[in-house]
Amino acid sequence: MPDRIFNFSAGPAVLPEPILQQAKEELLNFGSSGMSVMEMSHRSKDFEGIIAKAEAGLRKQMNIPNDYVVLFLQGGASLQFAMVPMNLYLQGNPVDVIHTGAWTKKAMAEIEKVAACRIAASTEAENFTRLPASDEIRLDENASYVHICSNNTIYGTQWRQFPEIGEIPLVADMSSDILSRQIDVSKFGLIFAGAQKNIGPAGVTVVIMQPYLAERAPRTHPTMLQYRTHIKSRSLYNTPPTFGIYMISLVMDWIEAQGGVPAIEAHNETKAKLLYDTIDASGFYTCPVAKQDRSRMNVIVRIRDGDETLEKKFVEEAVAAGLSGLKGHRSVGGIRASIYNAQTFEAVNALVDFMKDFEVRNG
Ligand code: PMP
Repeated sequence: MPDRIFNFSAGPAVLPEPILQQAKEELLNFGSSGMSVMEMSHRSKDFEGIIAKAEAGLRKQMNIPNDYVVLFLQGGASLQFAMVPMNLYLQGNPVDVIHTGAWTKKAMAEIEKVAACRIAASTEAENFTRLPASDEIRLDENASYVHICSNNTIYGTQWRQFPEIGEIPLVADMSSDILSRQIDVSKFGLIFAGAQKNIGPAGVTVVIMQPYLAERAPRTHPTMLQYRTHIKSRSLYNTPPTFGIYMISLVMDWIEAQGGVPAIEAHNETKAKLLYDTIDASGFYTCPVAKQDRSRMNVIVRIRDGDETLEKKFVEEAVAAGLSGLKGHRSVGGIRASIYNAQTFEAVNALVDFMKDFEVRNG
């Protein structure tokens, strides 16, 4: 398919091509239904099969314990920034946040509207180029829960080992690295992720949680904003994002076919290493992120520690060479290569070749 280019966008992001093909083939007639998934009642037998398959796939790939619930919601990760404190805050017990960048800042803005918010650690003074070390984290032992962002899409840091927080429920925004590596779900009270990076298309938000936490919420909250509503009706309280859930079911098949999350994780490590090795071997490219915290999903690249003219040129010439989505986030600048699960070795190699060539011409 020569008209498809290498897409390094941070999200919505590249999806596995075989599943796009499958969706295309099934677009007008799903199975023997005689209709598109988009035209199907969310109460139909066919759709029940689709949502059950998406959930079973996610449970299998993430090894989700049976006593956790899996929800397919709307409103993006941004609604979870509000829904989590609305549901999990216990009056008088603060919400502790480990502040690691723009996405924890947005989460804190929502927490502050409904709860007492405490910063348990922050690397803002170092412009979020690293994550707090365990001895820098000061938790309130009575915290309602602790909020972290497992992969900081904008600053390019990723928790290698999650902080040990004892009995306090750990809530993680895994929007940009869910399913990219093996994790122990049982260490988390609640995990949420917008689908548009590693799970499927935009419009679906996955929540994985221990159901007892949903019982903390006052029943006076709007019905749609209580987790218990969605737990009770198995994500079918109202019309869910049906096509997105169908796409998730296909992505789960694709992950299985790759050898599951362990195989995906190994691929992701190799892809990231290719890029970081290229940066570190060059005196031209730099990565501001501390080595031990570098993300395997979003690789931040600067040219000569921030030569904006050359960085702009890099991004423009990359587009002309068939490599799109490399412009750094507007708050950080520079170059960012997002290399989620569906990113191919071919794309990463093409980027490495382009980087080397650009350096020869401009170094
Ligand atoms: N958290 C993280 C880590 C993200 O990367 C993003 C989106 N890039 C969000 C939250 C916000 O997600 P949404 O647009 O789905 O609300």
